[in-house]
Amino acid sequence: DFIGGQEIGATRLYREICNRVEKFIEKNGYDAVFTVSAGLIACKDIKESSYNEILKLSQYSLSEAKHRGKNQIYLFDEDDYKKFLRKRRILHELREAVANDWAGFDLYFQPIMDSDSGKLYAAESLLRFKDSTGEMIPPVEFIPILEESGLIVPVGKWVAYTAIKQCKEWQKIIPEFKININLSYIQIRKSNVALDIINVIQKVGIDPKYVTFEFTESGYLENDTSVKKLIKIFNNQGIKLALDDFGTGYSNLAYLQNFNVDVIKIDRCFVENLAEDDFSGAFVKMVSELAKTIGVTVCVEGVEQKKQLEALKDMNVKLVQGYYYGNPMPVQEFEKMYL
Ligand code: C2E
Ligand code: CA
Ligand code: CA
Repeated sequence: DFIGGQEIGATRLYREICNRVEKFIEKNGYDAVFTVSAGLIACKDIKESSYNEILKLSQYSLSEAKHRGKNQIYLFDEDDYKKFLRKRRILHELREAVANDWAGFDLYFQPIMDSDSGKLYAAESLLRFKDSTGEMIPPVEFIPILEESGLIVPVGKWVAYTAIKQCKEWQKIIPEFKININLSYIQIRKSNVALDIINVIQKVGIDPKYVTFEFTESGYLENDTSVKKLIKIFNNQGIKLALDDFGTGYSNLAYLQNFNVDVIKIDRCFVENLAEDDFSGAFVKMVSELAKTIGVTVCVEGVEQKKQLEALKDMNVKLVQGYYYGNPMPVQEFEKMYL
């Protein structure tokens, strides 16, 4: 079946399997609806032709076909398999870290500055993870794994506690010190995150007005009752909310009216293009004007150059964050620079 190109061969083979299932069902007079998931591996991809190896790779292929939504064929791909193994290893490492007193996890802090005075306004906490070999795994890679596995719930709790405790500590030096903490949609959906956060705030003994939770807008959020409830609780408790990555993905200005947020964080892609296209500048300007009218503070992320900062100041953007002022950094480094 594989003569004439593997794609054709694989598809033909899949159809053949489907036909046989259909015939089997007909022959036995069953009344059934069925779908077929198939995982295939081409001979050329079998490097080590032992039974166990072939079984392992074909089982992987089958589970890929199922993961990708079932009722389809998946043909083994070396690169996909490498990614799968890496993801599995990272998940294992993350689990170990959670079980072993957060070994490997660390919180970095990035300054958020007042654009006018050039003074520190707050810090955003950003999670870091180093695996057992000492490799730093980037957040864009490990955060989705934490989310998919549900590990973001305990890890997010740890992040909130650690960040708020640190903020309280720094308030000994700067009494108005404010902290921003990222919140994942999964935490909202899968746990009573509001209660956890209130508990942490009480345990640490911080005034909630110094704590801002950042969450990213997304299509789901708008009609999700768990999100509405959370926002209401935060509003009642005086915990602040920021809309993260504003302007990317699902952007809806109606959001700002429906949800009582305190800060809008405009995504860094708009800063990157500030000089190059008219749209980015116009967008930032429009959002900052709208925000002003409704009493919301604007923060622009990803400021790397002085000329970007100047342009943003002209647009009355109050808060800025980015490498121009400082990278996310470990506690000691942050203290050296800002406290
Ligand atoms: P984010 O919340 O949008 O965080 C800002 C990201 O932009 C950070 O990436 C930061 O290092 C990077 N950044 C800051 N300034 C600049 C700049 O001037 N230029 C450029 N190119 N990048 C800049 P990071 O630390 O890799 O985090 C990536 C994402 O991972 C975060 O995006 C956030 O969505 C997520 N994340 C990080 N920590 C946590 C956490 O504790 N909980 C949750 N749920 N998500 C987190
Ligand atoms: Ca953020
Ligand atoms: Ca962001």
